[in-house]
Amino acid sequence: MTQEELTQLLGGWEGYRLEAAERREASEPGGRPEIWLTLEPDEWRCKYCSGCGEVVQAVHDTEERCVRDLPILDADTWLRVRRCRLACPRCGPKLERLDWLERYARVTKRLAENVARLCRELPIKHVAKYFHLHWSTVKAIDQAYLEAKLGPIDLTGVEQIAMDEFAIQKGHRYATVVVDAQSKRVLWVGRGRKREDVRPFFELLGAEGRERLKAVVMDMNAAYEEEVRARCPCAEIVYDLFHVVAKYGREVIDRVRVDEANRLRHDRPARAVIKGARWLLLRNRNNIPEHADRVRLKELLAANRKLYTTYVLKDDLKHLWEYRYEGAARTFWKSWYGRAIRSRIEPLKKFARKLKGYLWGILAHCRWPLHTSLLEGINNKIKVIKRMAYGYRDDAYFFLRIRAAFPGIP
Ligand SMILES: [Zn+2]
Repeated sequence: MTQEELTQLLGGWEGYRLEAAERREASEPGGRPEIWLTLEPDEWRCKYCSGCGEVVQAVHDTEERCVRDLPILDADTWLRVRRCRLACPRCGPKLERLDWLERYARVTKRLAENVARLCRELPIKHVAKYFHLHWSTVKAIDQAYLEAKLGPIDLTGVEQIAMDEFAIQKGHRYATVVVDAQSKRVLWVGRGRKREDVRPFFELLGAEGRERLKAVVMDMNAAYEEEVRARCPCAEIVYDLFHVVAKYGREVIDRVRVDEANRLRHDRPARAVIKGARWLLLRNRNNIPEHADRVRLKELLAANRKLYTTYVLKDDLKHLWEYRYEGAARTFWKSWYGRAIRSRIEPLKKFARKLKGYLWGILAHCRWPLHTSLLEGINNKIKVIKRMAYGYRDDAYFFLRIRAAFPGIP
């Protein structure tokens, strides 16, 4: 095997040949051994300018760089690479373009790709530990990779969107995510949740795009509504199931639970059961994994009439989003509303009266039957991304991760 073939087999560092290899054992206990490879440029290679991409043979100067590559067996691998600056007649002195090493990168392309791939599965901290790279290096690699992969935002043909807020830091900082409701692709993420915070998105959409917009799904209390009305004359506002049900949970179920616990303050065991049931009552019945918990919920509901009524009415309320004919949806609403008003449960009555004022936005769902779980799914996934990205305060990177997590369905 020739030296050249050996280089190809081992590393494929195109245009370079392996000149020397050295193994250094770990200097401290628990450390990792290192392999140092010296690569020399192949004199006969065709050299391309990184500026204009043309062939340039004249070398201006060279400089040695230390670059990380994928680990070899048990060892971290370092490359000593002589980088050439070419004397390009068009661009002046310019670095030689290499397919396996970006211009100012301190890691090879394939290491960067592996880092980015692992970042999809693990928190940055773990990826950094695995590859023995600095935390900020891993983040920078992933950020550059995502920027290149996602490219600029494409808003052509968007007709139906969903908008939602999420907390970057609960109680302090919020952001808004905009999703194409049909393809489920994240279109835009920006800081803030106020009307003027989402204006940049509508600017980006352009006059034609704003006129093309037919439906916008959102939470009932969102500040976005006014901005949509002012800017997108043809767009209908549609209220999202997930938010209405979450609101019901907070304002009705939780309120009734606290009231019932207070009412039972002389019956300590019964009071404890109700007080401890917050999670059980607010969770979707199908998402309670433990059999014992499902039994507990059943017994609790059987023993408490008010909780039972509010719980059943929550499940029924969800049906309102299943209708395709507004007339049928209206009939269903009337019956639900009647039951709520007759329930003699104050928080429930109050909620029903308030919801009545927003009914048009719920019925709009009949005309725009968008995924009812879209915003819920995105909301949950953002929480996971936030946990994975724990420890950084870089919104740009966080938003990029959100975009990458929802590339859309073709
Ligand atoms: Zn050039």
